[in-house]
Amino acid sequence: MEWCHFCKGKDISHRMVPYSISVGARTFPGQIEADVCGQCGEEYYNIRTLITFDAGVACQIIDEGISDGPTLTFLRKQTSLTEAQFARLLGTRTATVTRWEQGAPIDPAAWNTLCNLVRDAMNGRTTTRDQLRAEADQLSAHSSLMKPAIPHGKRVTENSTPQRIRYRLRLTAHPYRAVMARVK
Ligand SMILES: [Zn+2]
Repeated sequence: MEWCHFCKGKDISHRMVPYSISVGARTFPGQIEADVCGQCGEEYYNIRTLITFDAGVACQIIDEGISDGPTLTFLRKQTSLTEAQFARLLGTRTATVTRWEQGAPIDPAAWNTLCNLVRDAMNGRTTTRDQLRAEADQLSAHSSLMKPAIPHGKRVTENSTPQRIRYRLRLTAHPYRAVMARVK
């Protein structure tokens, strides 16, 4: 840059400066490149430099296994997923992800998945996301085969006998039987 946008000074130097971000109660210090104004001391950072710094912090969080609410939020944002999108990938509810991010104990499998998603994002891959989507598709295909046994508009109420419910569930356990039930 030619001149300082803050004081209009022209004494600009490009150098490494101390920089840190906070995630929850922890501060992650480091150094980044910046244009520094010699007159007022204003520092100007490149957005790519900041993204790279965040990615470094994400790696440190993953390596150290610091799994708590704020780190979960931080890592999720590294993957550009919303709470709802992340929940859908995991096959859980958005409210559950919200609870984890607010401090409830995080499901270890969900934490591992998130770490894999972050690693993928850093390496420009979509491996984990594709895998989770394929699993979710398989599940929903399976459950759509199971639906027809209980006809539309009919619900299992308190009045339904346990035998009846069991019979219906047994019917639906086999895909071909389920298709027959739909035809009938
Ligand atoms: Zn300045």
